[in-house]
Parts: sequence; C-alpha cells; structure tokens
Amino acid sequence: MVKIKSVIPFAGLALTACGPSAAERPNVIYVFPDQYRNSSLGFWSDPEFASQVAWQGDPVSTPNLDRFAREAVVLSEAVSNFPVSSPHRGMLLSGMYPERNGVVLNCMSERPESTLREDAECIGDVFSAAGYDCAYIGKLHVDHPTKNNPQRPGTYVSDMVPEWDAYTPPERRHGFNYWYSYGTYDVHKHPHYWDTEGNRHDVDEWSPQHEISKAIEYIENRDAQRDSRKPFFMMVGINPPHSPYASTDDCDLEGYELYKDKSLTDLLVRGNADTTMAKAAAARYYFANVSGIDREFGRLLKTLDDMGLADNTIVVFASDHGETMTSHSVTDPKNSIWRESLNIPFLVRYPGRLQHRVDDLLLSTPDIMPTVLGLAGLGDRIPASVEGRDFSPILRQDEVQPERPRAALYMRNLDGERDAEGQVRGFFPEARGLKTATHTMELCIDRDGALKRVLLYDDVQDPYQLRSLDPAACPELFASLCGELGELLRENDDVWYRERVLAEVIPYDMNN
Ligand code: CA
Repeated sequence: MVKIKSVIPFAGLALTACGPSAAERPNVIYVFPDQYRNSSLGFWSDPEFASQVAWQGDPVSTPNLDRFAREAVVLSEAVSNFPVSSPHRGMLLSGMYPERNGVVLNCMSERPESTLREDAECIGDVFSAAGYDCAYIGKLHVDHPTKNNPQRPGTYVSDMVPEWDAYTPPERRHGFNYWYSYGTYDVHKHPHYWDTEGNRHDVDEWSPQHEISKAIEYIENRDAQRDSRKPFFMMVGINPPHSPYASTDDCDLEGYELYKDKSLTDLLVRGNADTTMAKAAAARYYFANVSGIDREFGRLLKTLDDMGLADNTIVVFASDHGETMTSHSVTDPKNSIWRESLNIPFLVRYPGRLQHRVDDLLLSTPDIMPTVLGLAGLGDRIPASVEGRDFSPILRQDEVQPERPRAALYMRNLDGERDAEGQVRGFFPEARGLKTATHTMELCIDRDGALKRVLLYDDVQDPYQLRSLDPAACPELFASLCGELGELLRENDDVWYRERVLAEVIPYDMNN
C-alpha cells in the first residue's frame, strides 16, 4: 500500500500538468463469454473465495482463471440487469439503459425497433477518440438483421426465418477499426465472421479457440492489424458456453474429458438444481466449454506476459448473463432474476493499480463502460449520455469514493403487438425488480398491468432462493423493497415509472 501511495500522486501530478499522451495509456482487453454463470469459476471452491459468498461454486477446473483471480479484483455481485444477450450488450457498449440505447429486446429480424442506436456514443467511440486502436472479435448481437449481406446484396446473411445473425457495416461499428465479428450464430465448431472489409470467413474450429487466436494475432500485431504506437482496446465476445450443449459436437473435447465420467449429482451441486430434468445432461458439455474457455483465456494471458504487455494492460473477464442449468427446474437458461441468470463473473486485473480482493459491489451493466473508462484514465471523457456510474475509485480503493449502490435494477421485456407484416412493434415490460445486498425481488404484471406474481427472496438466509416470501407475511420488508424499486425506476426514467405501473404498491412519488 505504501509503495502505491508514493507512486500514484506523482502520476496524478503528471496527469494534471499536461495529460498523458495516448501512447502512455494502458491497453484494455474485455473478454466476455456468453451465458457464463459466476459460479462456474473454480476458485469459488477455494477457502479464500468460498468464505466471501453464501453459495457453493460449481466443480469446474479453471486453473488459468483461478490464477488470474488472485491477481484481480473479483466482484461477487456483478449484475446483468436484463439478463439476455442483446439488451446486456447494448448496455455494456453504451452505458445506457435499453430505452435510451435502443436495444429493448433480443435482436432478430422480426424486431426492427430493437437495435443499437447508430448515434449512441459507445465505449469504442470514446477509446477511439482518445487515440486508441479498437478491435472487436466474436459475437456482437446488438444490430437488427437487415438485408445487407455483403456477399449477396439485398438479402439477409442466411435464409433463416426469422433471421438472427447480422452483418454490421462500418458505419455501425462504433469506433472499432479492426473487425472480426458476427451477429449471433450457434454452431460452435463451424463459426463464421465478417472482417474489417466485409469479407466472410467460414471456419472449422471451435469458436473460442479461433477467436483467441485472432486476438493473439492482433496483440502480436502479426499483420500490422494495429498502429503499434497507439494503445489498443479489444473486446472478445466468445459464444460458448452458450447453448447448444447437447453432445461432443458442441463442446471442447479436452474439457469434456474432465467431466464425462462424473455423475450429474456430482456436477450439479447447487441446492436448487433439479438433476431429474432432461437438461441435466447438458452440465457435462457446459462445464467442458467452461474449461475450454479457461484454457483459451490462459493462452491470451500468456501472450501478454510473453510480449511484456501484462503490466500495462487492463484485462476484464465477464459475461453477458448467467445460466440456470436446471436450477429452479426451469429450462430457460436466462431472462430471469434468479442468481444463476442474473449474477455474472466480473474480474478485473490492472497490475500495480488494483489490489487483489473480492468485493461485493453491486455493479450494474451500464456501470461497466464508465468504470472501464475511469480505470483507463479516461473518466473525463465519459459521455453525458452514460447513465451508469464510474466505480473505478472503488476498485482502486481511492480515498474519495462514490457512494456504493444499494440496489441494482432488474428488467424483463417481452414482444409488443405484431403488425400486419408480422413485425413486432414496441415491447411489453413484463417484469421489474431489484437485487440488494440482502434480497432479490421481482414484480411481474399481466398484459392489463395487474400484478401477476411476486418473487421475494432473502439471499442471506436462503442463498439458493428456494422459498419465495409472501409479501403479506413481511409487509415492512416488502414496502421497503418497493420503495427502493420505485427510486431505481424513477432514476432510470423507466417505462414503469412513466406509466406508474403497480402504483398501488410502488411509491413512485414519495420523494418528489
Ligand atoms: Ca447471451
């Protein structure tokens, strides 16, 4: 600590006096596999980490992430506020909640209104303006698919109905000047990508392995992909352990060896797992992909070490949402408030600047962009449009810190009505809720706006959320959480606030 304090004020002075040149800025790498739940990290079974959480870690082997975690700030309570692919990614990239960034539903061709606003000032735009080279590799899934197939103009990129995959043209790339990406596509061993020029690449390789190889080529600057005088910002959107996870066709074979002989009750250890479900067999393939991703992440870290870049590179490992994997006996892996779906990994390493520890900061998805910019020393460039907060002072343990959030908002939108052409118009805000340090609550409405269901959990007494409390039996707690929810909805100018949904229980105007 003493050493850090003697160094930081000097750096601070230099910053104030003339501002660091772009070349002195740290590189930033943000790796986020899809549907990777927080409990699927081996270190949660290590006593140092296990003592920080009330639940049991999955029995997975992730040696590289375990080593990384011991060098990182590890958040135990990071929240995917709308735990579905596109809505998370829209918030991640823009720092704005869905109604402002445009991504109010999962993107596909029949939902033309759900797409990342082209004029949104996104994280890549900010890094680019600050003198960075910016690379996007892997799954994007924030654009409405249109008939802009560069290989066959006037058509979608495939003949799927509806179309989910998309090509993102240069004008929609938000500052990323190196591109090797696609919209959404789930054939893990035959992925495809469009490069910076719009050329399509079809690949016969497990996608995380291929994407990490592309990331390594970029870091090594093998083909002059970047300007070596500039720092770089790179996002790697890995698709697994997202489904499918039904056979060895879907998974990493080396990882599969670790789990193929284990019983499902040995693999599914959470107190709410239902090993009688048909889906339980997916655990072996899901965990195989978890271990494969760990190996690939290790290759990326080794490249940073080998090139002497590790000390000046901020590395984040996160996900877009979790995976229920039979918990609560549901088949839907995401799109619910339960911890398995809501809670995401968030590990950030910045050698010499961040001290290793586990922190229970309730980081919301829109906070990620400003916090990453703050860590990179670009706090003064956070756009005014950003609704999330810069929590880098908390991660750095600065003397002056922002107030910690008391709660994180949860949201679930469903399709609005369909027009004569079958296109979805608007959205139906089916559920809103919140996660606090001690409780999780979701309020769900029917299409007439009436209260349909309340989920209310005491996460301290009941970490696996097995018993939903009856609001009538705990009126003070319910009223207090409804008050907190009303405040979050007002702060975020949510449609529930504007339309005063469930005003009989949510005190929207209490503090106005
Ligand atoms: Ca996803």
